[in-house]
Amino acid sequence: MYKILFSIMASSSLLLLSTVLVAGTPDVSVTKADPAQKQLTKEPAQWGYEGEGKPQHWGELSPAFKRCSTGKNQSPINIKQAIKAELPLIKFKYNMLSANEIINTGYSIEVTMWSGGEIVVDDEKFKLSAFHFHTPSEHTIDGKSFPLEIHFTHYNRKKERVVVSILFEPSNKDDELLTALWPHLPLNVGERQKLGSNVLSSLEFEGKVGNYYRFNGSLTTPPCSEGVRWIVMKSLRKVTQETILKLQKAIKHPNNRPVQPLNARVLLK
Ligand SMILES: [Zn+2]
Repeated sequence: MYKILFSIMASSSLLLLSTVLVAGTPDVSVTKADPAQKQLTKEPAQWGYEGEGKPQHWGELSPAFKRCSTGKNQSPINIKQAIKAELPLIKFKYNMLSANEIINTGYSIEVTMWSGGEIVVDDEKFKLSAFHFHTPSEHTIDGKSFPLEIHFTHYNRKKERVVVSILFEPSNKDDELLTALWPHLPLNVGERQKLGSNVLSSLEFEGKVGNYYRFNGSLTTPPCSEGVRWIVMKSLRKVTQETILKLQKAIKHPNNRPVQPLNARVLLK
């Protein structure tokens, strides 16, 4: 709903701007009036991927989003020149996975968890809370983008985050997870559906996994909080063009934040 309101607001200010331009007297005071109006109505800042709320402006939309522009460990990044390290295996206990809902948030499609899903990273347990989709991918590898990326968000007891990312490459066959979820894909913003108990069965497994990139980063959406431990799996899964088109139809715009500077960070592989 906010999103719809915002696009109406955005198009009316665009209209206003074009009227001013047509009149040939671009007046700075017109644009200056906007923030004041926002303060009066106490509208929450609206972020997005296009127009005034696009990623390049996130840091200015609200004091709470400052980190999006001032942060030095922001995500996503282009993964390149990773340093070879003896990275410990990550223990996955992804058994008895029970999904709760699939939700069209307008920013992404998100699947929330009912129960199940745990990983052990740095000798600490992190519980799977939800996962969501980005098309195209947010992370790139050596500058290469992928059609799809899934972020699996995990929390420990201190509410610290580990995000496990899986990248997808184009194929004429879909990964089983996508085949199971896509019939339930909510196409309208705000729509949600309860998910059945078997829908995540292809994700279920228990074991140790190496073969990943590891680095520190942030949430890739406002408030862009840092201190997120990122695990990007090296093995790629498969997605068809048809599946991507349906996801694009549901989200209605690309939902990848551009890659951010690496700064002083070290990438491990
Ligand atoms: Zn994400």
